[in-house]
Amino acid sequence: MREKWDWSDARPATKAVWGGEDGPWPGRATQVPVVHSVSFGYDDVDSWFDVALGKTPGHIYGRNTNPTVEALEEKVRLLEGAEAATSFATGMAAISNTLFALLKPGDRVVSIKDLYGGTSLLFMEFLPRFQVEVALVDTADHDAIEAEIARGCQMVYLESPTNPTLKVLDLARLAARAHAEGALVVVDNTFATPINQSPLALGADLVIHSATKFLGGHADALGGVACGRRDLVAQLFHFREVNGATLHPEAAYLILRGMKTLDLRIRQQNSSALEIAKFLESHPGIDQVFYPGLPGHPGHAIAARQMRGFGGVVSFSVRGGFQAVRALLPRLRYAHLAANLGAVETVAGPPRTTSHVELSSEERLALGIPEALIRYSVGIEHVGDLLDDLGRALHAVASEARVLS
Ligand SMILES: *Cc1c(COP(=O)(O)O)cnc(C)c1O
Repeated sequence: MREKWDWSDARPATKAVWGGEDGPWPGRATQVPVVHSVSFGYDDVDSWFDVALGKTPGHIYGRNTNPTVEALEEKVRLLEGAEAATSFATGMAAISNTLFALLKPGDRVVSIKDLYGGTSLLFMEFLPRFQVEVALVDTADHDAIEAEIARGCQMVYLESPTNPTLKVLDLARLAARAHAEGALVVVDNTFATPINQSPLALGADLVIHSATKFLGGHADALGGVACGRRDLVAQLFHFREVNGATLHPEAAYLILRGMKTLDLRIRQQNSSALEIAKFLESHPGIDQVFYPGLPGHPGHAIAARQMRGFGGVVSFSVRGGFQAVRALLPRLRYAHLAANLGAVETVAGPPRTTSHVELSSEERLALGIPEALIRYSVGIEHVGDLLDDLGRALHAVASEARVLS
């Protein structure tokens, strides 16, 4: 009998492949099976009770735990260097469970204006109904965020880099300030992934992922994970057992399989995105490029310090306003025009009609989101093809504009 390995000292690429996968699985399968079973049976009442009471490991009922789902949680736990991890049906389920399990009436949360759209709605529409006060601060202003934290709060909720303008927060600085006030620090690490950024090492108490994006990487399964301090994860798990936002084993399998190539994918996407950002920056058809890997990006110095790569999302605004966005997007051959990111295929879309559609033009401008912005999530296609594709489409739009004028 081979012993169970401890993968914690392996490098990320190795954890992504092997982490959480050491069964034993039925029939000596080398791959994690999709366990389609609502409940798990026992030979006698005593062994059943031992599992129910947590004395021996095992599974009782699929809303609580499942072997396939557990393998995924362990892989993410290892990659984030967390004490514990638990999973959810979607990224938003991970976020809402975290907020509703840890906050209570009278609590105060400090967060940023550039939040993921769904998270922003939780803060603005739902939490206030439960007498939780939320302060959303200008993302670029660290002093203002620290001042809000100093006014007293129970949780500081952060994202970095942000959607869609890739603003960067100094996580170590804000975590230290939050802990000085006795507040918990929660970081949505979806855009960075554990390959590029380790918020727990920078001081966060909990890290959240929409596994739908880069972790799964193939745009074929929704899922969410939260990991970090064991006592906090236990509270999230307990709440999720009851409210039932459980990850389906089929989705867990797809994400688990996608994650085996996480390190390869992210390294390619980091390098392609940087090359594309540089190309766009010097292109006459482009107004502004938002990418933390560019030295001119306001968050570049912080990103260079706290990230190992700058990520796979580049945003840019095109000259010619929204009309130019309309003309450009359908001309891209290698991009799904869709509301997603982090996939092996390039995905492009305008925040104006997707993630920030509820906002007015003025509100978008206040967030620094130009009307002609395109969010471009770089896939793993050959970067030469993506550069050709963008160059060709921009040239066609410019020629058309000249003919029309
Ligand atoms: C997509 C996304 C979410 C929500 O994840 P779902 O799996 O779609 O529920 C949360 N945070 C960020 C940063 C995201 O990009």
